[in-house]
Amino acid sequence: MADQQHADIRLYLVVHESLRLTLDRFVRAYTRDLYYLRATERVLADGPLPDFLAVYLRGTDDVQHGFWKFMQPELFEGVTAEQAADYGKVIERYWQWADAAVGRILSFYEGTDRLVLVVSDHGAGPAIGEYKIFTPEYLHLSGSHRKTGILVAQGPGIRAGGSTEHASVYDVTPTILAYLGEAVGEDMDGHVLGDLFVPALAKRPVAHIATYDEAGDVPTGHVQSNVDDKALEHLRSLGYIE
Ligand SMILES: [Zn+2]
Repeated sequence: MADQQHADIRLYLVVHESLRLTLDRFVRAYTRDLYYLRATERVLADGPLPDFLAVYLRGTDDVQHGFWKFMQPELFEGVTAEQAADYGKVIERYWQWADAAVGRILSFYEGTDRLVLVVSDHGAGPAIGEYKIFTPEYLHLSGSHRKTGILVAQGPGIRAGGSTEHASVYDVTPTILAYLGEAVGEDMDGHVLGDLFVPALAKRPVAHIATYDEAGDVPTGHVQSNVDDKALEHLRSLGYIE
């Protein structure tokens, strides 16, 4: 099934000059995610399974930025019927691919007691009205961020059918630490999402330490590399930071 999805995704890589940048965005996103997936599978196959594993699949965000106009062509100008037919399902297909990728990773943990968190720090929607992106026009961004993300939790100690309101991306790290019985840093911005846990786990006292940051790690000068500047500009252009 995953191979069929790979084949389907490759069908979209038809060279079309007016779409070159959008397709280039797709190729970079997909190859990066594929690299992360393959590297993860290699690490897990070699074993032993790590106590903690985090995998970032950013491609879902890249494709929503690039392909939203083909999914909802009625909201944008200049999208041809042919383009909508060719690329209208890229976002949906990408999520299916990402879902299969998560399944491949989890298959290594079958039969083990593990907590799985699927987390997105934001949602997505058409880049129109108040959500229009005015950063470089040539990027042709037709999808933009929405405030609400997702948090899905599954594993021993997770309350079936439970939900949590007003969770923040900052809550993820304290929640994982508390789940693992590790101390939560008092300088962390988030809090433990006890609502996700079964009562016995929710009632377990949470240990705290002042901080995980060591003074020796904090740079004392004002030297900042060009890479940092570029990374900051990218985050700023996408609305992550002010
Ligand atoms: Zn984004």
